[in-house]
Amino acid sequence: MALAFIFALLAQTLPLAGDEFHEDTFIRMRQREVYLREQMTELLQEVEQSDRDHSRTGMLALLPSLKIMSGLCVFGLMFWLIWKIEKKLWEDQDNSDEESSSNEQHQQEEQQPAQQSVEEDKQSFFFPEIFRPVQEQTANFDYVFFLLFDLIWYAEYFTIGTFYPKAHLPIGVGTSNEGWQFTEEENVFYLFVALTAPPGHVFQPELDTAGELPVRNSRIHVELECTCGREEELNMLCFVHTPEDTLGDQRPSTLQNLCTGSYLDVKKTACWFMVLFRLVWKCMPESAEYRMNVTLTRRSFRIQLEDPYRSLSVIDVIFGVQQGNTDIFLSSQESEISSIPSTTWPQTCAVAEAKFFEHIDAHAGQDSFHLECLKVCAYILEGYNFSPYELKTVLMHLLTAIPVECWSRRYFVQRTEDILRYLQCCVEEKRLDHFLIGNEEVPAEIILPWEFRVSVPPNLFQRLAQDPDRHEQALYEMEMLQDRLRTLLIYGK
Ligand SMILES: [Zn+2]
Repeated sequence: MALAFIFALLAQTLPLAGDEFHEDTFIRMRQREVYLREQMTELLQEVEQSDRDHSRTGMLALLPSLKIMSGLCVFGLMFWLIWKIEKKLWEDQDNSDEESSSNEQHQQEEQQPAQQSVEEDKQSFFFPEIFRPVQEQTANFDYVFFLLFDLIWYAEYFTIGTFYPKAHLPIGVGTSNEGWQFTEEENVFYLFVALTAPPGHVFQPELDTAGELPVRNSRIHVELECTCGREEELNMLCFVHTPEDTLGDQRPSTLQNLCTGSYLDVKKTACWFMVLFRLVWKCMPESAEYRMNVTLTRRSFRIQLEDPYRSLSVIDVIFGVQQGNTDIFLSSQESEISSIPSTTWPQTCAVAEAKFFEHIDAHAGQDSFHLECLKVCAYILEGYNFSPYELKTVLMHLLTAIPVECWSRRYFVQRTEDILRYLQCCVEEKRLDHFLIGNEEVPAEIILPWEFRVSVPPNLFQRLAQDPDRHEQALYEMEMLQDRLRTLLIYGK
């Protein structure tokens, strides 16, 4: 079925791929473009209406209520239990080492059971049901990743002969990709899609150099470039040097339809791809079994996918334009500032951070437990005034400070405590440095702009330095978190 679809698409697009330009095909492409543009205009009107409604109601930030834990803790008993737990870990590890050395001659045959054993240990000993197995998360992630992969791949055929941005293959970012998401209500995945300019267009990032890094106030200027001498190769006329009345149906669609002024517009870009993906989905074989719903968010769109068993997966798509050849992008990511203009594309470190975790995975052993440590800490921090990003920053600092071989299962308790201890020191000092800015420990394979390497790192705990009450509250919460960790390790909840 998939092959039939691909051949059908190829049959549609073959005339364009040939040496001679086929006028009928080009007209069909133009008609499809006009149709998509109409759909997008309708959606944009709906979004603007929705925004007006939203501004009337206003936004009230709801602060999470602080759970007050009370009761006496029998510290002596707890420490004794932790000591027992650690002892058991050491014994398990020693037994595992002995078994593996005695069975070296059967290593190949037993490799798979040994892997299962590691996974079972990861799942059974410390991990109550609230922590879903990493394997299960990875399988779900792989599925939605390849679904978006297919959508983008097919969409490319739909837009041949038009001048809209090219979407590249998705990059998994955030907790679901890094493997430390622990919620089980729904599978939410964040997929980052890099955009490049279509032929005849150039995306020129404009950054506010006076602002603090990562730059929030940045825009993408869209310019037309001369393509003289490459008409046959690109199958187009030069936008700059061809008189408008002789361009015929050829239009600089990105500049005309996806920009406000001459700056790339987040909402218009999201609308375009949403309409495109909806159309593509109807032609994909998966649409026979799965239900897909695509809805606009404030700065991008969300895909909800329901499988035949009514299990729901949610994909938040983030668009971005690469800054030079670095791993830093200007993105459509949601911002805490509700009034951010639609032509603003703040810098994001999401791709660089995803690359850092890939780097750690490549160097860490099979039984590395760093994500499990992070998962446990994320679980106990739920409801407190520390964000997942702050926790992740702590882990990234520790992963460069402590050798990767010391993140194995046998050091699970120590490393989890290290994370909380590091966090506590940061709270006491009212300072948590951004990981990627002004940090010499960032691996060289992560390509950062020059200014990231030489700048003073921003303080993620600036709020604690500015507000004594919040600092006092954070110190109090740290004490609660230490207790919560002990309770979790002992009782598993
Ligand atoms: Zn030219």
